[in-house]
Amino acid sequence: MNDLNKQASASVLDGAISVSAGKSGGTDSAKSSLFPTYARYPLALVKGEGSYLWDDQGNKYLDFMSGIAVTNLGHSPKRIKEALVKQLDELWHVSNLFHIPNQEAAAKLLTDNSHADQVFFCNSGAEANEAAIKLARRYHQKVLGNGRYEVITFEKSFHGRTLATLTATGQEKVKEGFGPLPEGFRYVPLHDKAALEAAITDKTAAIMIEMIQAEGGVIPVDPAFVHFVNKLCKDRGILLIVDEIQTGMGRTGKLFSFEHYGIEPDIFTLAKALGSGFPVGAMLAKDFLTEAFSAGSHGSTFGGTPIATAAVKATIETIVGDRVADRAAEMGEYLMKQLREKLAGNPVVTGIRGKGLIVGIACTKPVADIIKEGQKRGLLVVSAGPEVIRLLPSLLITPAEIDQAVSILASIIA
Ligand SMILES: *Cc1c(COP(=O)(O)O)cnc(C)c1O
Repeated sequence: MNDLNKQASASVLDGAISVSAGKSGGTDSAKSSLFPTYARYPLALVKGEGSYLWDDQGNKYLDFMSGIAVTNLGHSPKRIKEALVKQLDELWHVSNLFHIPNQEAAAKLLTDNSHADQVFFCNSGAEANEAAIKLARRYHQKVLGNGRYEVITFEKSFHGRTLATLTATGQEKVKEGFGPLPEGFRYVPLHDKAALEAAITDKTAAIMIEMIQAEGGVIPVDPAFVHFVNKLCKDRGILLIVDEIQTGMGRTGKLFSFEHYGIEPDIFTLAKALGSGFPVGAMLAKDFLTEAFSAGSHGSTFGGTPIATAAVKATIETIVGDRVADRAAEMGEYLMKQLREKLAGNPVVTGIRGKGLIVGIACTKPVADIIKEGQKRGLLVVSAGPEVIRLLPSLLITPAEIDQAVSILASIIA
């Protein structure tokens, strides 16, 4: 047992009654007390620093998944940690019935660095999208009084796991067995202009879209289609909601991915990397939507606590102050170039796509074995659908780390 391993079992044993001695963090085969909602890999990661993770056996991994686009600044980033520790010493929680200075400051940073005017803080991506859907409906119903409620989304999209957001999601697999689902959602194939126009009714309140369908297979939306959707929304009085939960916070080479297209969505949503790993989500909107969320219309006990928003503040200050998005753009180009060079002509690889540091490697066969082999060789990557390898390194990744990851991947896929 190495030092890391000792620490992990000591903290497990400290607070537990029925943990048998020598059990290591979660990799044993005894029946777990957790719902089996995740098909977990047989690895328990117990320590992280920068682009690296260590398991409870002391093995080191190069992290090219970042907790699925959460740890954009790497693991345990110093500045965020300091802000959190400072806040832990001062105040953990107060009700949203009081002013929360960190929350005000975090919101101001978000609106100063985007076209949005107002922010609502929540705890997750699903909650941020839930808030967006509620705001869109309430704007049409309470402010305009036109009774609109339908939200159009796209096939292969992913918007979350609450009842409304799994209904918004354009994938059947997340809906099975959860009916009856809330009314008011319609789906169209991505890039199908005619189908989109046909789906619009006098009840259409909003169109919700990801600029890159991340869970759906790292599929960047064609700029011409983005502009078409944007114009359609403007012409027909429909709100445009952009789900930036995975693509936001510098991931694609801009602070928010819609900036690549020069559009300004009425509403957009953030979570994942917003707190650098501290759980927090946000829904941002333009000024004209403010009155739709009047006092008492929506809320969340934990939304924007002093601690969560200390993390948000430090995260945005770091990403903006250190020009992290520019760096992601540069490193993304380097990663793409290396992948194209090293995987060129490989019969398993059908395409390499993405933007900044969200990159998909489309394959001719399921990638589960490639991912497992990567873990054995010390590289963590994630899939995006069965046949796409998704790379989501820290935005502070170095060229040497990229070389290392590409060389491991190339040797596995060869
Ligand atoms: C992860 C994700 C969500 C859901 O976020 P949770 O925090 O898991 O609820 C929604 N939309 C997109 C695009 C995501 O990547």
